[in-house]
Parts: sequence; structure tokens; C-alpha cells
Amino acid sequence: MRPMRLFTPGPLNTSDPVRQAAGMDLGSRSPLATALTAQLRSAIADIAGCDDSWSAVPLQGSGTFAVEAMLCSLTDRYDHLLVLENGVYSHRIMTICTLHGIRHTTLSFDAYQGIDLAKVEAVLQAQPEITHIAAVHFETALGVLNDIDGLTALAQRYRRQVLVDAISTFGVLPLHVAAPALVAVALSSNKCLHGLPGMAFVLARQAQLARPTPARTLSLDLKAQAQALDQDGQWRFTPPLQVMLALQQAITEFHQRGGRAARYEEYQQRMAHLLRGMSALGFQPVIQQQHRAPLIVTLAPETAIRCDISQLNDYLFARQLVIYPTKHSDPRSFRVGVMGELSMADIDDLLTAFAEFIGDASGRGLSQPATAQDMTL
Ligand SMILES: *Cc1c(COP(=O)(O)O)cnc(C)c1O
Repeated sequence: MRPMRLFTPGPLNTSDPVRQAAGMDLGSRSPLATALTAQLRSAIADIAGCDDSWSAVPLQGSGTFAVEAMLCSLTDRYDHLLVLENGVYSHRIMTICTLHGIRHTTLSFDAYQGIDLAKVEAVLQAQPEITHIAAVHFETALGVLNDIDGLTALAQRYRRQVLVDAISTFGVLPLHVAAPALVAVALSSNKCLHGLPGMAFVLARQAQLARPTPARTLSLDLKAQAQALDQDGQWRFTPPLQVMLALQQAITEFHQRGGRAARYEEYQQRMAHLLRGMSALGFQPVIQQQHRAPLIVTLAPETAIRCDISQLNDYLFARQLVIYPTKHSDPRSFRVGVMGELSMADIDDLLTAFAEFIGDASGRGLSQPATAQDMTL
């Protein structure tokens, strides 16, 4: 049976060697584990293009754990965060601030568009108490790209610091980490790096980690984690060793295949192919081109097309194809990602399944596979 193909933003398809790398037991206090941690920390800083002023701090958990650790560890009681909200993940930043009592102001934007730097500038001028700005690089729920390099340049002019959730972009979209205003970046193992889910990182400036900010949590205390790792190379709590081994393999493959620029190019080709095929079938992107990135796209059918989403999901699932729901208001819409270990043939299979689903004559008429209920996962 062909493996499940995930057109989702992560967990996503990983390579066989990545999954195999996880199949080894390793003691968490062994020299091997210590070396693995050190290697991953420097590999992540290296992929980002960070110099010695940065530290890559690993954490257990998914990307949200890194975002929460970043926000609650690097802000002081007197700091005031400006949260740029244009989707689900920046809304989550707001929730984190509220829960931890981090002083903040929210500036909301149309979720279908990127952040508007002119509006950010007006708030910075009007509110001198703002010390930090938090934003999301790519709002994955609708697929909207934010201009973070523009934001850090603006923040620099106003002497404010920027914290970024780059979880869905790290390893594929460029980010100018040398920008002095950029002080922390959150990322995870299971998106563009093609690793397994279960670990995340915060890239933080050493100077930020040295600030005497209050500890708001025990397990998400980034500074305590960094200190422990710098002292004896050990995580404070059980490290996700199998996930780390898989990430090490994923990073090896990332470099073997040409690194960030090559992966970007590959994703772009897949996205162009997907959009051409879907457009021919009558499905169009909901987000305008200038706000999109070749990672994941929200699609909706043209008005005449009937498309029952739960039927569509079942139909695709029975063919081992998994797409994702979206936050778009059209109940016939959905998201398709091109991230992970996918080939053009996988995208062709998805296009064929769509063509068959809507009864288009271009469908190649595959034999009827088992229903979703018959499948054993
Ligand atoms: C995936 C993602 C996260 C993390 O979500 P988890 O459910 O914790 O994996 C955070 N921000 C963005 C932009 C994401 O795409």
C-alpha cells in the first residue's frame, strides 16, 4: 500500500531514513546525547545564518511551546509588547501574553492580508511605552505572509525589539537575522525542516538570555534551559532523543539537497504545478498572490462547483491523500500544503483525485479504492 500523503503543514511526510533514525534507544545522560544536542543547536543557528551573538535553545514540545517560552522568558514586567494580529497564530500570541500577564497592545489586521507597516509605525509613534513587537512570519491557517524584514527595519528606526514566530517558514523562507532589532525567533522540528514532531527551538540573542527577567514557568523557562545546556550540555528534563536523532538526519538531507534556497525552489515548483492544475479544475486561491508563499494555499471552488468538504475529505482520505481545513468563510474551501517529502507525482495524484471527485472528464479513472472506514491506520 502506498504511504499516506500529507498535504498538511506539519506533521508532514518525512523520509524513510528520518523515520528510521528515530528507531534507536539512547540514554539521555550519555555522551552521545550531549553531542547530539550540541550538534543540533549549532546546526539550527547555522541554517538561520546566526553569528555568535545568538544561541539556539531547544525545548520539548511543538512549536507553540517555543512561542510561549520565547514570550514568557524574554519579557520583563515593565516591557510592553505590540502584538501584530492577522490570524490564528498571532491571536495565540495574544492569548499567551494574557495568560502570563505580559503587558501588551494588540494591533489587528485583515486576516486575508499581511501586516501593514504604516499602521505599525503610527502605533509606535503614538505609544512610546512599547518595547517589543511580536509577529508571525507566515500565518499558516489561511496562508498569509508577513514582511518581517520590513518590520525589523522599522523597529530598528524606533529602537524596539522584535520577537518572531517563524515556525512554518524556518528552513525555506529567508529571514534577515542580522537585523539588530530581531532578538528572538521560534521554530519547530516538524515543518520545513522535515523532522518528526516533538521538539522546538528558540533562537535568541545571548544578551536577551542574560536579562534578569522573571521566571514565569518552570518547564518553559528558556533562560534556565539555555543555562543548563551551556553549563554541562544537559537538558533540564527528559529530552526527546528519538525526535532529535530524526531531526539530525533531516538536517543532513536538507544540506545534501542544497539547503534553504534549493528547498524554496522545490516548494515553489510544486506550488506552481498545484495551482495550475487546480485552476484548470475551477479552484482558485483565496489569498492574493502578493500575500502568498509557496508553503500552503487556501483554495475555494468557483461559484458553480458543488463541493461538500466532508465528502471531499473522505474521498481523498480513501486514496491516502490528506488535505487540511481552513478558517476561510466559504464552507467549500480547504488548504493544500506542498511542504515535506512530496513529489510532483504526489501532486499529480492529488489533482487526479480532485478531477475525479468533481466528475471532470480529465480524470484518469482510477479504480474505486476502499472507503475511509475500511482502512486500518
Ligand atoms: C504550526 C505552527 C505553530 C505551532 O503549532 P503547534 O500546534 O504547536 O505545532 C505556530 N505558529 C505557526 C505559524 C505555525 O504554522
